[in-house]
Amino acid sequence: MRYLIVSDLHANLEALHAVLAQSAGGYDRALCCGDLVGYGADPNPVCDWVRLNCAAVVRGNHDRASTGQDDLEWFNPVARNAAIWTLEALTPENAGYIMALPRGPLTVETFQLFHGSPCDEDEYVIAAGEADQAFGYLETRVAFFGHTHVQGGFIWNQSRVETILRPPARGDSQSLPIDPECAYMINPGSTGQPRDGDPRAAYALYDTEANEVTYRRVVYDVAAAQKKIHAAGLPPILADRLSVGR
Ligand code: ZN
Repeated sequence: MRYLIVSDLHANLEALHAVLAQSAGGYDRALCCGDLVGYGADPNPVCDWVRLNCAAVVRGNHDRASTGQDDLEWFNPVARNAAIWTLEALTPENAGYIMALPRGPLTVETFQLFHGSPCDEDEYVIAAGEADQAFGYLETRVAFFGHTHVQGGFIWNQSRVETILRPPARGDSQSLPIDPECAYMINPGSTGQPRDGDPRAAYALYDTEANEVTYRRVVYDVAAAQKKIHAAGLPPILADRLSVGR
């Protein structure tokens, strides 16, 4: 089975469209590691696509916040503003869909999906030390996660945890062979709001027969997404950061 794995779409329809155009024909099932909405100006079209096309989806913290399931006190003012805007913009059907999403980890075939870490959907797994602890909670050898908006992840090779190096800035594809003796926490990166210094939309493909993960990046119409954020009256920084991928 060939999977398309997206995460942290954040209501960015232009980024999602670019990912779908580039990956067309390259996968059998689509999966999502959460944060469908929040920050961007197209929560409904993005949510529609996930609802109609993803075989498995876990919720993210912005999905909870944008459907009134969380106290917004701990969100920074920009994220809070976007969550309140999204709460008003979502159709009842999409809000209901998001509210019913599971928290993860969710097991799909032979691997797992979660948003932050296997024991805490809100935890940011950024460093190898944090990943080392998280590996102890995995029930499968391969897992996909998001939340940090940084493409890459971690490999556990019996004795130690290594950080998976991100694809070089000029390339748009990097393959990672899956060694059955190791364990993997793979972050496909953020489709809708990358924060790893590369503004291109990020995603991953996983071929379970070929035992290979492919990290991918694709250029999208950033200016169109920014224009919609400004028109919606969302905080301008949410548009600005898309240009730099930070
Ligand atoms: Zn996110």
